Amino acid sequence: MSILVVGSVAFDTLETPSGRRERVLGGAATHFALAASFFTKVRVVGVVGEDFLPEHEAVLTSRGVDTTGLEHVPGRSFHWSGSYMRDLGAADTLVTDLNVFADFAPKIPTSYLDSEYLFLANIDPVLQTRVRAQMPGVRMVAGDTMNYWISAHRENLLKVMRELDVLVINDNEARMLSGESNNVRAAKGVLELGPKSLVVKYAEHGSASFFSQRSFGDGEPHKPFRAPATPTEEVVDPTGAGDSFAGGFYGYIASQERLTPEVFRRAMFYGCVLGSLSVEDFGTERLQRTTREEIDRRFEDLREISHL
Ligand code: AMP
Repeated sequence: MSILVVGSVAFDTLETPSGRRERVLGGAATHFALAASFFTKVRVVGVVGEDFLPEHEAVLTSRGVDTTGLEHVPGRSFHWSGSYMRDLGAADTLVTDLNVFADFAPKIPTSYLDSEYLFLANIDPVLQTRVRAQMPGVRMVAGDTMNYWISAHRENLLKVMRELDVLVINDNEARMLSGESNNVRAAKGVLELGPKSLVVKYAEHGSASFFSQRSFGDGEPHKPFRAPATPTEEVVDPTGAGDSFAGGFYGYIASQERLTPEVFRRAMFYGCVLGSLSVEDFGTERLQRTTREEIDRRFEDLREISHL
């Protein structure tokens, strides 16, 4: 099984209480792809500039990620800078240099057309819709978004919502999308916009899933579920935690033959595990030195602390 992910591949300048890093490899598609690569084959569609060197691409390819769809064009790669000095839970965006990302027109290589799973990472919803339309045969579509698209491009975003089997967002985004401040009402409000299911991430408080129809995936009834988060003592850099969660979650689903309620719930645990690993170092550093054994150990620990 393979997942096609479309999204940003970037350089990030990061400032956290643990230190500062200039232009390290980042981007939603990068974090997602690395996390999902522990479970299944991942194919990336994105765009980078001349500053994106073979050593950067090797971070992805050394984990088996297919970068055929990573377009190299003249100019500089997307650059984002964020600071967590005020609040470790929410980045203050200092710089967003779109650079080559400004004219991004996703092109799907022929060799990607048989991908069974599609992940629409956080990009312009018009592009998300366009990619979705080019992949009519996929088994499942999941996606993410962010506050900017919710507030300034709502109409376009609503079109994407109706295409999604799973929307994976954080609690702030769920509240913004629905206009509801209560978490349960927010989830209901989001489901009314069209996604068949919703996974809400509550950072260090875990995640929850909600379903618009009881019959989902392989037709078995799904019920709301709450997964805990791995207790983490030190958060070095929260950047990419959400995308790593999504990668662990969706990667696990893609690695399983059937989408049963049990598989969906286990996937949420794997999402938490990948998110918790990713924050332990800057950028992609921690996931680059992770092993599947370590992931499975953390999964078991999480199970132990949360089961009667
Ligand atoms: P998160 O998982 O939400 O922490 O995602 C962080 C990643 O999103 C960073 O590596 C950034 O490069 C990327 N990013 C930040 N702003 C944007 C944007 N406007 N569009 C696409 N990607 C972005």
